[in-house]
Amino acid sequence: MANILLLGPPGAGKGTQAKRLVDERGMVQLSTGDMLRDAKSSGTEMGNRVAEVMAKGLLVTDEIVIGLIDEKITGDAGRGFIFDGFPRTLPQADALCALMMRTGQTLDAVIEMRVDDAALVARITGRFTCGNCGAVYHDQTKPTAKLGFCDVCGSNNMVRRVDDNEAALRQRLMEYYKKTSPLIGYYYAKKQLYTVDGLAAMDVVAAAIAKVLDRH
Ligand code: AMP
Repeated sequence: MANILLLGPPGAGKGTQAKRLVDERGMVQLSTGDMLRDAKSSGTEMGNRVAEVMAKGLLVTDEIVIGLIDEKITGDAGRGFIFDGFPRTLPQADALCALMMRTGQTLDAVIEMRVDDAALVARITGRFTCGNCGAVYHDQTKPTAKLGFCDVCGSNNMVRRVDDNEAALRQRLMEYYKKTSPLIGYYYAKKQLYTVDGLAAMDVVAAAIAKVLDRH
């Protein structure tokens, strides 16, 4: 199974599409954002240290996220990794390349999910997830069938991220354009880049990603 990277600004749909690939293809989602939130809620020293940075919408240090990926990259090799939210800087991209080489793996495709900023505010500020199973919802576009209860697992533990507000989003977008968007050129030059329209319907985006995966 191919190893892929989903690249795009906050709210582009990376997490939603990654979860689909996990369900439909048994791939393994590696989300540094989820790992950092887990570290925060389990109260580890690193989790506490990065919580404030994350709440402001700034990037945490390369060293921390590279360490997190380094721990995960060997275990499930072969099932196909989906890198979601990592790498976010050029040093992280170089580190990923080195880690893949060291473990005898390849990054097969980088899928840029292109969206325009205007859509992101609405997407992000209405977003909530099931704290139990991770299903993603939206106040307007994808509400739960029964108010307050997850359609998938029935839990009533619905959570909203502290950084899913307009001020933090503005900062996250600035970080994206300053530090992450150069990766588009980086992977284009490496001939690994594919671009999909992140504003299309969820199924259409999923089909475009499937097409890329099936080529690898
Ligand atoms: P995400 O869930 O991917 O939107 O990430 C949430 C937050 O976690 C980001 O705004 C950053 O503060 C932090 N974060 C996640 N992944 C990275 C990364 N690869 N590099 C630096 N910071 C990250």
